[in-house]
Amino acid sequence: MKYLSTRGDKTERHFCDILLEGLAPDGGLYLPTAYPTIDAATLARWRGLSYAELAFEILSLYIDDIPAADLKAITARTYTEAVFGTPQITPLKPLEPGLALVALSNGPTLAFKDMAMQLLGQLFEYELGRRGETLNILGATSGDTGSAAEYAMRGKAGIQVFMLSPHGRMSPFQQAQMFSLQDPNIHNIAVQGVFDDCQDIVKAVSNDLAFKRGQRIGTVNSINWARLLAQVVYYFAAYFQATKSDAERVSFTVPSGNFGNVCAGHVARMMGLPIDQLVVATNENDVLDEFFRTGVYRPRGAEHTLETSSPSMDISKASNFERFVFDLLERDGERVKRLFGEELATRGFFEITAEERARIAGQYGFVSGRSTHEDRIATIRECHAQYGVVIDTHTADGLKVALARRQPGVTMLVLETALPAKFAASIEEALGLVPPRPVALADLESRPKRVTVLPVSVDQVKQFIVEHV
Ligand SMILES: *Cc1c(COP(=O)(O)O)cnc(C)c1O
Repeated sequence: MKYLSTRGDKTERHFCDILLEGLAPDGGLYLPTAYPTIDAATLARWRGLSYAELAFEILSLYIDDIPAADLKAITARTYTEAVFGTPQITPLKPLEPGLALVALSNGPTLAFKDMAMQLLGQLFEYELGRRGETLNILGATSGDTGSAAEYAMRGKAGIQVFMLSPHGRMSPFQQAQMFSLQDPNIHNIAVQGVFDDCQDIVKAVSNDLAFKRGQRIGTVNSINWARLLAQVVYYFAAYFQATKSDAERVSFTVPSGNFGNVCAGHVARMMGLPIDQLVVATNENDVLDEFFRTGVYRPRGAEHTLETSSPSMDISKASNFERFVFDLLERDGERVKRLFGEELATRGFFEITAEERARIAGQYGFVSGRSTHEDRIATIRECHAQYGVVIDTHTADGLKVALARRQPGVTMLVLETALPAKFAASIEEALGLVPPRPVALADLESRPKRVTVLPVSVDQVKQFIVEHV
């Protein structure tokens, strides 16, 4: 399996060539040259596998430059009951017949990003060790990515983490989770701006190729292909739990921001997993919902990014979205380059053709919906009253849209992207109760914090890195 860029650079690379990379040199994102497809016999065989075994099988189709025995050991080390709390790793939480949550948030940071990041930590340490190299990870987070990355990389040999987050915009729990880490290889940088400012700084630093090489900068943002690949696994795992036979189809609703999670669903569907619809759920930052409704993609500036009660979806430029558009435009890299390059730069938006629009739902199964603060609160209440299940605000955005989009006879699986304990204030507003928290995290907010506040400045971030590597 080889990889190419969504912007037309056809230089073919192996998995380990792109594992430690962010964007492709032409500014595009990496995708496999073709999606491997799963025949009926393989799907039937996979149904009986453990999560770690299933991960090994799926990863094997995309990774041909790590020996099978090593890859098997890596997946076995990553997806354990000790780290993820249950033997199924991603168990279903049934709400009613035909409707269930997929529990993706039982890893160390209580959000689904652990699913991919824990694997990435193992892959990075393995590959760096094999090469005898070190890596300085630069990332931007609106909350969950950063903590997941830090918990996956803490104490890992040869790795340092520099994590940018929007100063004062994460929940107290999220801040405490990241800033309380005392590991010397973890550096928290609070930027006086919004998430998109953080992301722009990461892009600017990464685009300075001399600095990037000189300081051995890598990334763990959701554009990293290995992260997306890791997420493909739980679509299969959830499907097997929700169905009795491979003749059944299910739909997924995915609370979305950077389009990484639902893009993994797209990959699973392209591989032949019997997915009917992929429902993209946004909050008030509805740039994706707008695209799926109108065919117009109009990312918004930082000043038009709303601060909501589902903050991990407060994103107005969906960084993984280009991967889907590349497939939608029949892999015309030149056109993708024009749309995401010139058109966005000069016009601020692009629009696809009516014929392409028709294929979004028709061929690719995508539909969308949006949710507001009032919807979240109401959905958290209803879910608690009707099913006795407490959900977090992001999952509530998903459930709200799922209930509107669900089709008779097709099981709807809603991805639970975080535990309610991470967003306690909204749960208290909705239910008047403090959501339960794992006992190990009881004193989190009172632990000492390690964080540096910096202005929105590429140069100052570079300087901080230079001083700390
Ligand atoms: C990251 C995150 C999302 C959005 O996922 P994307 O892959 O960026 O679409 C949704 N909910 C939670 C809790 C998250 O941490």
